[in-house]
Amino acid sequence: MLGVLAVTLHQGPFALYPPTVMRWLSSALAWCLLTVASGSAAAPVNITIKARAQRAGDVLLLTVQTALAARAVTGQAFGTPIHFYQTQEPGTWQALVGVDVDVPPGDHGIEIAATSETGEEMRETRTLAIQARNSPARHLTLPEKYVNPPESVQERIRAESEQLKTIFSTVSAGRLWEGGFARPVPGRVISDFGKQSILNGQPRSVHSGVDLRAASGTPLKAPAAGRVILVKDLYFAGNSVIIDHGLGLYSHLAHLSRFRVKEGQLVERGEIVGYTGQSGRVQGPHLHWSVRLCNSRIDPIAVLWVLGNREPGQKRRAVARASGSAGGSERE
Ligand SMILES: [Zn+2]
Repeated sequence: MLGVLAVTLHQGPFALYPPTVMRWLSSALAWCLLTVASGSAAAPVNITIKARAQRAGDVLLLTVQTALAARAVTGQAFGTPIHFYQTQEPGTWQALVGVDVDVPPGDHGIEIAATSETGEEMRETRTLAIQARNSPARHLTLPEKYVNPPESVQERIRAESEQLKTIFSTVSAGRLWEGGFARPVPGRVISDFGKQSILNGQPRSVHSGVDLRAASGTPLKAPAAGRVILVKDLYFAGNSVIIDHGLGLYSHLAHLSRFRVKEGQLVERGEIVGYTGQSGRVQGPHLHWSVRLCNSRIDPIAVLWVLGNREPGQKRRAVARASGSAGGSERE
């Protein structure tokens, strides 16, 4: 094509210019065309983002389509690798990105790199304008041993914290949540994710999960398919079930009265894993459900928004319910 254009320049009105000017015009035109060509080739990766909001504590579903069929897609955001999986649609990859509740507001970059089947590299970046969460504080009155634990339990608390850190830092290969997410109990939200906790008047960490209303003994369902990675009585979270959904995504279900699964067991979405209760640091019976994605603390309700497996028309009502005023008492 460049050859054709260069030839065209030597004819018609341009033919009046001396050969040196003609060479300059040809090379200038060739440079412009190459710039345009490389400009369009610089965006061979198309990124779309689905999210309830781009706020601290939210989760983003990235869909990436590549100009050339890719054999691998990688990326990073917030200093953490992104774990992509191939979808049923040819040339389309997806990944979840967690925006930890402590990510500061402002611009943050996402970098995506894809390798074609013949080895070509394709790259694209995107800037996210992350907003602050601005959740109000929540005030709880709890037994003193849960606010300022005695020396005798410090070692237990430290060991459990280490164990949880190890679990949430592990990224298991393979996505197990293909069937989507659903609420583990039908009860409404009684304490939102992300609130600063004030326990007996003392500031503590933010609420890293969501509290759902549930009377003691309510059947507790796996929110998505996965492998049960922990079944244990933890000092703060009480009787806990942690499910590994794969690719760094975990659900922690806390304060149970009884277990119905064993460690290592594979569960389907909706399968009963135990019964709700009020074990651990609580004011009363409820379900505390937290979600971690590659160690980021994210709002389970945001996960339902992105991966919720609802009938058409249910989404608006479910979101309205989840974001409505909590009512009732805060539960921890
Ligand atoms: Zn809670």
